[in-house]
Amino acid sequence: MSAVFIISAPSGSGKSTLVREVLRIDRRLEFSISYTTRSPRGLEVPGLSYQYVSREEFEQRMKADEFLEHAEVFGHYYGTHRSVWDKAKAERKDLLLDIDVQGAQQLKKRIPDAVTIFVLAPSREILEQRLRARSEDAEAVIARRLAGAAREIRNYHSYDYVVVNEQVESAVDTLLAVIRAERVRRQRMEDRIRPILASFGEQL
Ligand code: 5GP
Repeated sequence: MSAVFIISAPSGSGKSTLVREVLRIDRRLEFSISYTTRSPRGLEVPGLSYQYVSREEFEQRMKADEFLEHAEVFGHYYGTHRSVWDKAKAERKDLLLDIDVQGAQQLKKRIPDAVTIFVLAPSREILEQRLRARSEDAEAVIARRLAGAAREIRNYHSYDYVVVNEQVESAVDTLLAVIRAERVRRQRMEDRIRPILASFGEQL
C-alpha cells in the first residue's frame, strides 16, 4: 500500500534541499511534480521541478477537475495532478509532495492517512538570511515571502510532525526516520502480514 508524505514549509526554510536529499537516499519515494503558472527559477528543470503551464491551461485543467488539490500562492497557481497519485500506486511507490498549507489541508481530506510534515527554519532572522542568500528573488518578493512565512507558521498545529531545519544532515535524518516509521504502521502492513499469517495457516 502506497503512503503519502506531504512536506510544507515557508519558502527559505531549506525545504527544497531536504526534499532533494531525502529523495536521493530513499528510492521508494516518488516526487510529486506539481503544475504551476510561475516561470522556472535558477536551475529548475521543466518537467522535473514543475510542469510549467500558462494560467489559461491551468484554469482549463482546474475546470476539468484534474487536480487533487490546488492553491494560489504568491499570485501563481500550483496544483497536484490526479495522475501523480495513480502512477505512484501503480508503481507501488510512496509519494512525497512539497505543497503549501492550503494544499496539504485539501489533500488530507481526500487522503486521510497522508502523513503531514512541517519544516521550519530555526528563526525569522535565519529565514531572511536564507532567502537573501538564494538571491533568486527581488526585494519585494523576499518581503512577500517573509510575510507569507509569518502567516504559514501559524498553521503548524494542523501537521503530524514538525522538523526544525537547524542543520541539513540531521533534518534529513529526522525526515527519513519519520518516513520509515510511518511505513510500518500496522494499517500499512496488511499486505505484508497476510502471507506471513497464511504461512502459519492463519487468515486476517
Ligand atoms: P516555489 O514557487 O517557491 O517553488 O513554491 C511556492 C510554494 O508553493 C511552496 O510553499 C510550495 O510548497 C508550494 N507548492 C508547490 N507545488 C504545489 C502544489 O502542487 N500545490 C500546492 N498547494 N502548493 C504547491
